[in-house]
Amino acid sequence: MKKGTINVQTENIFPIIKKFLYSDHEIFLRELVSNAVDATQKLKALAAMGKVKDELGDLTIQVVVDKDAKTIKVIDRGVGMTADEVEKYIAQIAFSGAEEFVKKYKNKSAEERANLIGHFGLGFYSSFMVSDRVEIFTKTYKKGGQTKAVHWECDGSPEYILEETDKSDRGTEVVLHINDDSLDYLENSKIEQLLNKYCRFLPVPVQFGMKTESVKTGEKDKDGNDKYETVEVPNIINNTNPIWLRKPSELKDEDYKKFYRELYPMVFEEPLFHIHLNVDYPFKLTGILYFPKIQQNVEVRKDKIQLYSNQVFITDNVEGVVPDFLTLLHGVLDSPDIPLNVSRSYLQSDSNVKKISNHILKKVADKLAQLFKKDRAGFEKKWDDIKVFIEYGIISEEKFYEKAKNFTLLKNVDGKYFTFDEYESLIEENQTDKDKKLVYLYTTDAEKQYPYIEKAKSKGYDVLLMDGVIDSHFVNHLEQKFENARFVRVDADVISKLIQKEETAESKLKEETKEALKKLFSKFLSPEFTVVFEVMDEQEMPATITETEFMRRMRDMSMLGGGMNMMGALPDSYNFVVNENHPLIVKLNEEKDEKLKEELASRIVYSAKLMKDMLKGEELTKFVNTYVESLTK
Ligand code: ADP
Ligand code: MG
Repeated sequence: MKKGTINVQTENIFPIIKKFLYSDHEIFLRELVSNAVDATQKLKALAAMGKVKDELGDLTIQVVVDKDAKTIKVIDRGVGMTADEVEKYIAQIAFSGAEEFVKKYKNKSAEERANLIGHFGLGFYSSFMVSDRVEIFTKTYKKGGQTKAVHWECDGSPEYILEETDKSDRGTEVVLHINDDSLDYLENSKIEQLLNKYCRFLPVPVQFGMKTESVKTGEKDKDGNDKYETVEVPNIINNTNPIWLRKPSELKDEDYKKFYRELYPMVFEEPLFHIHLNVDYPFKLTGILYFPKIQQNVEVRKDKIQLYSNQVFITDNVEGVVPDFLTLLHGVLDSPDIPLNVSRSYLQSDSNVKKISNHILKKVADKLAQLFKKDRAGFEKKWDDIKVFIEYGIISEEKFYEKAKNFTLLKNVDGKYFTFDEYESLIEENQTDKDKKLVYLYTTDAEKQYPYIEKAKSKGYDVLLMDGVIDSHFVNHLEQKFENARFVRVDADVISKLIQKEETAESKLKEETKEALKKLFSKFLSPEFTVVFEVMDEQEMPATITETEFMRRMRDMSMLGGGMNMMGALPDSYNFVVNENHPLIVKLNEEKDEKLKEELASRIVYSAKLMKDMLKGEELTKFVNTYVESLTK
């Protein structure tokens, strides 16, 4: 037996490992199983080169929990290690890696630490986060010389022992003696959960005990039904050949859907479509991205894309790796070229990551363009579900807008879809105002704004439906992108003013009369209303309530941004627009009986409010009561 000392430069690292890595202890299992996978893959590679003479045999990796002995074992039949290799790779190299990590880690802020954890492979030494003592039993695949099996043991102090042992089988067995703070890890359910999280798609089978399965016996019962029996079968955790590594040409749509269900057993909606990524140069990247069906108003969760490095699960936080708006997608990305052992701020400035991000963006845009071109009708059917991605993409990524502007659709209140160009031609003639600006009319709520929409339609105008979650931002963005264009909601002004083709005619009402009417109406209006007068058609309503586009849009956007605004809550502000030419207004003006005059004015106010879906409570009751009375008379 030989005693050795790890060459320590900092103070003892084990207490630090235990203390600082508190929140992420569980990665020890990922590290040990990936080491077992690496050792197995090396063996296979050597065998392929003819350098291993033995039969490889069953290479399944075993994870074994013994609750009574308080141990977890990870057993592989890979290359194994000689005594020298254990000293070199475990005691020296792996240790110095861990030591370096701890040094870096100690000086970081809490936030940076949280980022580092799980992205820096602490490797083998992460096992000390959960163990009092760790043993390795290993036998190399090599023949002759010093190739006897060895036993290494370390209790977390810099001293370790190394001795010969009589293990006969090739490969490595790591035994963790779980410490009292980590007894949770001795629960089968816990280990199974961790294996499912980190090891689900590893390239070498990983077995965790046995499970029962019911299989056909081959016999039939008296009714002619198949007979079943329950049998014990190895509980294999992983799918060693996930479809993202296979050729798209070999896969059917159903395979992608099946994989989606495998990834997200809790999501019931089928994905809308998928994109299979496969890049070799200048970086390696494979993966499948799905466009999920997301319901409006439902909180969008941005942690659905899983990031893998050579099939080892790393994280489901892909911020910085893919463009922000694409984090709404689901699926997997696998790349050995994404540096995982660095902090997130570094990740975001990494040139490889930038290239990957741009590539994904381009692929997604190309796929959408292709869907649009190949099957416009099908694309339109999916539009309502994908529009939030595309709008978000357009708002947040200039590069995406450049591609998306050719397939982005605008939907009008009649449910027809138009590309930007098509829509421009549609409204060009009729909806250009006196300043030669193209006026895009839209509604944010086709039901509430129905009277205004109808008015616009009666003039032959087209009205767009902009009732999506981020449409207020989108409208703003398009207004900046489109040259000479203006977006106005249908209730932003009275119809004759919405798209003004010429200067308004002179008013026929005298100024004093207007003042008197203003006072009269104000009796029935709260302070957020401003009474204004317009010369309009007789067919128009006697009075209409409008909301200035600018103020309303500011308010919508500040509400979307979390409800608070730098200026405080923006106040509501409405115009009460009186149609000077309406016979009812003329009548009101001439009415001599004060009581009757007020009655008339209040009813004009109430009808205007009703049209804007603003008549509530006491006013609504009064209005309905007088209406019922008038019917009874
Ligand atoms: P890394 O895997 O990044 O090299 P680790 O700390 O996880 O770092 O492992 C250190 C080294 O120990 C490995 O590179 C390998 O040489 C050796 N090693 C660890 N586990 C095994 C194993 N199960 N079989 C053979 N060698 C192993
Ligand atoms: Mg490792």
